[in-house]
Amino acid sequence: MCFWVSSTHVVLRNPVLRTSTRTALILSGLVVLSSLVALAPIHDAATGLSSLGVHLTLPWHYRVWAPFCSVLDALSVLSIRQHIVLLATYIVGYAAWRIVRRASLRALHPEYRRPWRSACLWETGFACIAVVAWVGIYVAGALVPRPMSSLTLADPDAVTVDFHSHTNASWDGVKRFTAEANRAWHREAGFDVAYISDHATVAGALQGMRHNPVTAGSDVVLLPAVEARYGGQHIIAMGIRPDRDVHADGNWREPALKPGTDAPMLMLTIPGNLSRIDTQQYPGLARLAAIELADAAPRGIDQLQRQRRTVLDFAARHNIAVIASSDNHGWGSTAAAWSVLHIPNWRSMSPTTLDAAIQRAITQHGRSAVQVLARRAPDPGASVALLALTPVAVSVNYLRTLSWPERASWLGWIWAVWCVVTVVPITVPVRRPVADEPALAHERIPELVPETVADDSY
Ligand SMILES: [Zn+2]
Repeated sequence: MCFWVSSTHVVLRNPVLRTSTRTALILSGLVVLSSLVALAPIHDAATGLSSLGVHLTLPWHYRVWAPFCSVLDALSVLSIRQHIVLLATYIVGYAAWRIVRRASLRALHPEYRRPWRSACLWETGFACIAVVAWVGIYVAGALVPRPMSSLTLADPDAVTVDFHSHTNASWDGVKRFTAEANRAWHREAGFDVAYISDHATVAGALQGMRHNPVTAGSDVVLLPAVEARYGGQHIIAMGIRPDRDVHADGNWREPALKPGTDAPMLMLTIPGNLSRIDTQQYPGLARLAAIELADAAPRGIDQLQRQRRTVLDFAARHNIAVIASSDNHGWGSTAAAWSVLHIPNWRSMSPTTLDAAIQRAITQHGRSAVQVLARRAPDPGASVALLALTPVAVSVNYLRTLSWPERASWLGWIWAVWCVVTVVPITVPVRRPVADEPALAHERIPELVPETVADDSY
């Protein structure tokens, strides 16, 4: 119910209490009951199975803001197709809500007729709020710094590597994303090594290498690579020597090498044209050593959802490694996947020695050299039906992969908001009806006090 307390304000209490209590109980039930069918949030990207000795560590400030951080994390690992389906669902849901709401208002107040100009203004205002809310979520996910969850491995000889990342030395890198910002991002995400693979330049990598720790286990090690175009594909070249290999034009140029020298190691990035890979020839001494099985760019996620099997078959056929890449240009605060190699005593190695050991492991062990660990996310594959179910799949996957600290944070936020909504009196300013403006007075109150109307106690 609602009641007047002055000539200009109305206080809402009981209807809000009933609605918010019901909502809080439903949300709490979902958060708690979904733990009965919980899944590990990290899995092997090749097999889909959970791995032992692997977990996500959440810093205390992540735990405090878990509902916001974890939702943004969940949105950050979706493909372009999935984002489009989410947006379409949002638009349809919003339109349905407005139509149903207007119909219910008319049913409750048959005498009520809003002038069309006023109705247009109301709807435009609500639509603007809906657009700002949607855009705000994505802008916050990409731009606003937030706490990150990091991968923790039980095996001390396991080293986590990002084979593909950028700095502001890339033409499309975020200006504030320096080599040290790149190092800090990888540190927070739980990486031990990050290859800086800027577009056609090693300037960012050189900057990062200058501040590398003496021993690799002391801090995140930044190592040199370069992203270049070759045969219509984007490749990452590792094992380059900045003083020898200069790629000024963005195209891959085979450095002048003599047989027997250490040649660059090439990795195919995704998205790419997989149908061209088999016939593609890599000239000179450079050798194809790996292909991405995880690339955190939405376009990369999109292709890998549809062609994961093709990538795995290709890697097995050529006995090359599968790797994970952040392809981070300075946007966002979510690591989607990690490459894990087993290199005994890597923590005591120098950065240069570790770089050589990583390349040696890939060369010697081929397909089995690297395990790709990724966040569990809904994968519709090539199925249109499963793609259409993205909103449901994302919600279910999100709830099932929450950790207990995240669930506790959710419960805290749900009931904190409930306290605020129900304990603090809510006053809504209204214009009192005046004799010569009956329609205007009727028109404002239902929009401002929707719970009152829905409760039919108005
Ligand atoms: Zn890139």
